[in-house]
Amino acid sequence: MKIAILYIAIGRYDRFWKLFHSSCESYFLNDCTKHYFVFTDSKLLENNKKTTFFHVPNEGWPQNTLNRFQFFHSIADQLKEYDYCFFFNANTLFLKKIHKEEILPDRDNDYLVHLSFHTFLTYQKEDLPYDRNPASTACIDRAEGERYYQGGLYGGRTPEFNVMNETLLEKVQLDWANGITARNNDESHLNKYLINRHPLCLSTIYGRPEEWEEPDQPFIIFRRKEATLGFYQIFRQKKKPMMYLFRQINAKIKRKY
Ligand code: UDP
Repeated sequence: MKIAILYIAIGRYDRFWKLFHSSCESYFLNDCTKHYFVFTDSKLLENNKKTTFFHVPNEGWPQNTLNRFQFFHSIADQLKEYDYCFFFNANTLFLKKIHKEEILPDRDNDYLVHLSFHTFLTYQKEDLPYDRNPASTACIDRAEGERYYQGGLYGGRTPEFNVMNETLLEKVQLDWANGITARNNDESHLNKYLINRHPLCLSTIYGRPEEWEEPDQPFIIFRRKEATLGFYQIFRQKKKPMMYLFRQINAKIKRKY
């Protein structure tokens, strides 16, 4: 079984690469052949037998994350040599072995696999953080949708992954032409795409923020970005920066006492 791992490391996000790569090598689908396709503006990273680097410009945030669909589209033909494709956020860290039986989707799942944090299970349907702007192609009606999926970890069988990617690229480009950016960027488009589909749903144990205490013993964590990227970069990326500042101070006080 051949697996393509898609990864984006633009700007300071390249600082996550080394640990991501070594942990993925140690724990992710060790009975499969893996190849890494990395989109980066770093000139320091060089191709080798198991990794191909593509040089892309740094267009800032959120463009660097929204450009993912364009990046993956540019190598769609190369991806056809692989059985399954997976995308992981740069700050992904594997902590425990993951086998193909638990993560590869089948026909019942429309051959797609996505992560959904359990915290969204307590939300009323109408409160899920979908895009609600009728002018955006990512807009979801308040009566629709059951789950909210994360954009930091997903995958699929290659034909289905490529179709999903092409569709999302078209939607992002259409919004862009109309001067619209969806509420949670690529994640909003992903959620719209999944509305009437039945992906294999990975729970929080397959990926949770580092700072959460539960669930215990996760397979994957998303490393705290502040420590690696710097607090100011994260502050600038936030839609509600003052709310973020408040939460950070609150968390610091809680850690102290
Ligand atoms: N990314 C990047 N450079 C940037 C912004 C984003 O390489 O300047 C990539 C990186 O892989 C990151 C992903 O896009 O993990 C998602 O970015 P974002 O910061 O929005 O992720 P979040 O942690 O908020 O899901």
